[in-house]
Amino acid sequence: MTIPWWNIEIGEDEKKSVCEAIQNRFIGQGALTEQLEKELARHLGVYGCVCTTSGTTALLMAFIAIGIKPDDELILPAKTFIATAHAALLLGAKIKLVDVEKSNASMDFRKIEKQISSKTRVIVPVHLNGRAAAMPEIQEIAGNHGLTIVEDAAQGLFSRTATGKFLGTFGRFGCFSLGMAKLITSGQGGFIICHNAEDMELLKRIRNQGVLDAHALNKYNILAANFKFTDIQAALVLPQLKGIESRLKHQKKIHDLYAENLINKEDLKFFPVNVEKGECPMRAEILSSRREEFISVMMDKGVQIVPQSPALQHSPHIGCPGQFPNADYFGSHTATLPSGPNQPLHNVLKTIEIINNL
Ligand SMILES: *Cc1c(COP(=O)(O)O)cnc(C)c1O
Repeated sequence: MTIPWWNIEIGEDEKKSVCEAIQNRFIGQGALTEQLEKELARHLGVYGCVCTTSGTTALLMAFIAIGIKPDDELILPAKTFIATAHAALLLGAKIKLVDVEKSNASMDFRKIEKQISSKTRVIVPVHLNGRAAAMPEIQEIAGNHGLTIVEDAAQGLFSRTATGKFLGTFGRFGCFSLGMAKLITSGQGGFIICHNAEDMELLKRIRNQGVLDAHALNKYNILAANFKFTDIQAALVLPQLKGIESRLKHQKKIHDLYAENLINKEDLKFFPVNVEKGECPMRAEILSSRREEFISVMMDKGVQIVPQSPALQHSPHIGCPGQFPNADYFGSHTATLPSGPNQPLHNVLKTIEIINNL
């Protein structure tokens, strides 16, 4: 059987929790969603959390909350999942890209100021695979220019900087994903963390057609939609959150096995995450100058490895042609090795053995 690139399992606790939710008629967004939001906020040490339908929606809601309008500009790293850009483009906003750092594939803060104009509203640092963007520097730039920070921490849940602060907790809003290929999953889902009661109320209204209570008449006065979560999903996530410590340990174990045992070759190098500094890897990544060939050879040997997506300048509808060489490098060289919260360690060891014998 082929070793899959990702493995996340729904265990007995999750099944039991979802069955109980259904039996107790916790179906739509209600008490269990609120319980999950409180738990997530407590774990991350923040004021509040609002669950929604996806990580993309979390970003979209944050941008709506800030009041992003057509022709406003947002600054994004050229290497991110395209969802970061799509959330802004849905509001008619414009994207400005900056290249990433060669060392950790995160937004190069030195290149941000050149992209700031009178229309710039937001900087969106993205913490890819648990690697922290340079938050103190980005915060200083945002402060100097009166810009808001929205963090895309979809791949950075429970990852920290050296000071111990969780990724996603630096900006006005931090956006996370509960998709299938993330640390914890509700099938599809996401959440936004915020730091005060006003922002929390605003997000909750944006999630529910502009109102906190559907029976509050004559209160429909802001642009909003139905971005609601469901208690069935919350029931699926709550047990995963309870077991988060062992899940994080397993993630690090997978990372360390690869980091310690893969023999780096000229055209094949493990791409580590700074675990000592507090970062938590979401996936295991390798850099290859002959990526497609590597992937197909590994597939023949029964190991699924997937390429990561190209840098954003290559998608014409983003409207950002230009040269972003480091983003290009990571977009064309990075592949994901078998990993995931329930990937058996023997699959990792087998993969290492096969790669080392190539
Ligand atoms: C997964 C992801 C998203 C979007 O999350 P979805 O839940 O899939 O909508 C956004 N940004 C990054 C960096 C992601 O990895």
